[in-house]
Formats: sequence, C-alpha cells, structure tokens
Amino acid sequence: MLSKHRVVDLLPTKHGHFIGGMYVDPRGAEVYTNIAPAYDMPLGDVAVGTADDVQVAVDAAKAALAGPWGRTTPSERAKVLRRVAELLLEHRQAFARLEALDSGKPYSEAYEGDIARSAYNFQFFADLTAHQVSPSYTSDDGTLHTTLREPIGIVGLITPWNLPLYLATWKLAPALAQGNAVILKPAELTPLTAMAMGNVFNAAGLPPGVVNIIQGFGAGGAGEALVKHPDVKAISFTGETTTGEAIMRAAAPQLKKLSFELGGKGATVIFADADLDQAVATAARAAFRNQGQICLAGSRLIVERSVAPQVIDQLLVAVRSIKIGDPLDPMTTMGSLVSRDHRDKVEKYAAYAKSCPGVEILCGGKIPSDYRQGAYFEPTVVTGVAQESRLIQEEVFGPVLTVQVFDSADEAQNMVNGTPYGLSCSVFTRDINKAQNFARSARMGLVWLNTWFSRDLHTAFGGMKRSGIGREGGQYSLDFFSEFKTISMAMRPY
Ligand code: NAD
Repeated sequence: MLSKHRVVDLLPTKHGHFIGGMYVDPRGAEVYTNIAPAYDMPLGDVAVGTADDVQVAVDAAKAALAGPWGRTTPSERAKVLRRVAELLLEHRQAFARLEALDSGKPYSEAYEGDIARSAYNFQFFADLTAHQVSPSYTSDDGTLHTTLREPIGIVGLITPWNLPLYLATWKLAPALAQGNAVILKPAELTPLTAMAMGNVFNAAGLPPGVVNIIQGFGAGGAGEALVKHPDVKAISFTGETTTGEAIMRAAAPQLKKLSFELGGKGATVIFADADLDQAVATAARAAFRNQGQICLAGSRLIVERSVAPQVIDQLLVAVRSIKIGDPLDPMTTMGSLVSRDHRDKVEKYAAYAKSCPGVEILCGGKIPSDYRQGAYFEPTVVTGVAQESRLIQEEVFGPVLTVQVFDSADEAQNMVNGTPYGLSCSVFTRDINKAQNFARSARMGLVWLNTWFSRDLHTAFGGMKRSGIGREGGQYSLDFFSEFKTISMAMRPY
C-alpha cells in the first residue's frame, strides 16, 4: 500500500537514485541543490550520478530480466501498467504539486495536463500491448514464418525538463509494455516526479530492477555514461538538437538503436478567411502555454496581411489577460520559467530583438516588475523580424512570439519551412483545399488544421529535419522498444 505521504515526503530529503526497487545512496558523494524556480527555494540535494551508479543500475536491470519479468506475457505486463496508471491518478494532486514546485509551471496545468496524461500513457500502452498479435505467413513451399516481437533488453531513457513526468512516462510505458528493463535519466532541473515514481512502481508490483532511475547531469555525467554503456542497447532521447548530436556520436561505436525527439520552431499560420476569434485564442495558447517551453509551441505567428492589424489587436488582448503568478495559485495561467539560467537566455533573445533595426516589441520583453524573485518573464510579442533573424531561426523555448505577415500561401509556406526545424505547425483557414495543400507542403512531422496540440496517442509523433529521428506514439513506440525475430519452420505440405 502506497502511503500518500511517501510521494510528498520525498521533497525535503536528499535524493539519491532508485535502483533495484529501492531508493539508494549514490556511489559518489557529489550532490547539487535542486531549486523551485518560482520561489528561488531549495528543494533538497540531488545525487550527481556517475558511471558507477549506471553500472549498479545495469546490474539490477540484468537481474530483473533474468527473473520473472523476462518471462512475463503482454497481458501480465498490461495489468501492472494499469495499476501504475491508477496509482498515479490516486496521487494526482501530490504529483501535480511536485511538478509545479520543481518546474515552475501552474499547478492546474500539471494536474489537468501533465499528470493526467502521464497516467493515460500507462493505460494506453497497457491496452495496446495486450491486443498485439504476431503476424505469420505460409510461403509456397509450405514453410510457416512467424515474426515475433521480443524485448530489446536494457534500454536507456533520457528526458528533458519541460514536461518532466509526461515525457518520462511517454517512454517508460511502451518500453515496459514490450518487456524491457529501463534506466531513466530525468533532467537535472526537474528530478522529483520521476523520483516519486519509484514508490508507484513498487506499489504497483513491478519487480525490482525493471525500472531504475539515475539522477544527475548529461554530458560527462550519468546521461553520457548511460549512452556509452555496452549493455544498454537502445536510447530514447527527448531534448535539444545539439544534445541529440552528442548522443549520436557517443552511441555510434556501438551502433545503438536511437530515437530522437528534438527541438522545434513551430508556426501558427492564420489565413484571412479563418475563424479569427478561434485562431487568435489558439495562437496565444500555442505560444504561451507552459511559459512557451514546449517543443510544439507555436512560437511564430504568420498572418495574412489583410487581417494582420485585427489579429495583432486581438492577440494583444489575449496576451494581456494572461495571469502571471505563483504556480500554486489556481488563478495563475503563466508560472515561472524553469530556472534563472534559462530565463537569462530568454532575456538575451529579448535584448537582441530590441537591438535589431525595424523590430518592434509589442508587449513584454522583460522580467515582470512584481516578480524579482523567481524566474519569471513576461509574455512577449515581437514584429518586424526578418526570416533570417536568430529570433526566427533559433529555438528560444520561452514566452516569446514573433509575428510575420504574408501576402500569398507560397510566401507563408516558405516562412513555415524556412528554419532548420520540422516538428509542427498549425494552419487556420475555412478553405479545406487550401488547408490540405498547405499541410502536404509543410516539412513538419505534425500539422494541425484549425487546432493545436491535438495529440492522439495512436498517431505518429516526431519531427523532420533537425527536429528528430524516428517516430514515437502507438505502434511506433512499441516497434522502437522491440526486437523482431522471424522464425521459419519447414512444414510437410498437407
Ligand atoms: P537537453 O538536451 O539539455 O537535456 C535533455 C536531457 O539530456 C537531460 O536529461 C540532460 O541531462 C541530458 N543530456 C544532456 N547532455 C547529454 C549528453 N551529452 N549525453 C546524454 N544525456 C545528455 O534539453 P532540455 O534543455 O532539458 O530540454 C529542452 C529541449 O528539449 C528543447 O530543445 C525542446 O524543444 C526539446 N524537447 C523536444 C520534444 C520533442 O518531442 N521533440 C519534447 C520536449 C522537449
């Protein structure tokens, strides 16, 4: 039985790793202080994991695979995953609170979004794995071929800070559904909800060592050690594009299986014939939800010239209604950025915008005067930005929205496609042909027509160009976490 306190009580303690079903002290003595970014408040010391800790986790994972977990059937695993989902929902408030404190995001968003979706990840992959069948085929000479799906073995999951539990569970659920043992390395800025999951896995009856969680840093630390460990056969990574490059280099000598969900520079395109009220409300949400720290954020608004003045006016009204505040206050719609360092990075982009001739900051562009404490930044809207500008080409990953104006669909398309990224865009128009043609020409892994962030877990999720390699979601995730084996048996013709 999982006590409600056990989840929350993790807060003030020193956080080691979760290995072999136990919270354990790290091998080394080094720790860092985890900060609640909205309050500049320490949330406890966290272990700086090393290659030695990764080795202990690998040993625990090997033992788990050699034990009963290695012989589970899909329906047995589905049962455990469903229990994990139930427990997460039972402890939804505690998890949402941890996430809000650790990341600075509004509690309400964590409760309605992150934690609910995390639980659903387990439910969804439990159902999907329980209903899978292996294809079989008889060739002309009577040979019976069956393609089996087997676990890879030990897989490494490396996740970012912007949707900490949601993205960790998005990988954990399919990896476990396929019968693997995993080592998760959560982002160093947001270690808490992943850590609390250890209790949930134990309470759900997952055998020790099936999930191991190593805290610490990436380059030169636990993340890199995980990527380089020869017994870790696949890496599923979500994070920055440049980190993806480093992981690919480190994994290359061992030819590891890799899945990369990387950076984005999403666009919202509004044609003159769109439902402007709906389009502008969605564009504001797409730019500023989670403080603009979403890979799928619509951080570029691209609007047809004839409606640009009206769209900008409506947009500014929507932005001014955003309520910056304490993440735990239910009225708050925009919390703190994830850290002061990250806020400094966003502030530098705003300063750069101010230095560019012709660029106009329509609102925001600074730290809110009431919030000197914490890592807050005002929602910012910028116009007059050239397509080649760093503000368009680089991922700011904060509450900064650029507005560009177009005269033709071709021009809008060139703007949308004219960055190194290819993750997502939204298009608003009442003309279905225009919408479909636009979608087909977009070099984006996800295109939303008259909506944003519509995420059905059955569908392929991932980016083109520098936004990723491979796809996650539904069968795509299960395939990534599987080894396929074809067994062919000679049969006497009947
Ligand atoms: P990051 O790349 O800095 O870190 C992500 C994780 O990688 C962390 O756990 C970190 O410790 C680890 N890491 C860093 N260097 C490593 C290395 N050399 N070897 C192994 N592990 C290493 O990213 P972040 O700042 O935490 O997250 C923000 C980024 O994530 C943005 O670029 C955003 O677009 C991207 N993101 C993408 C998606 C998507 O689905 N495409 C979703 C969310 C976030």
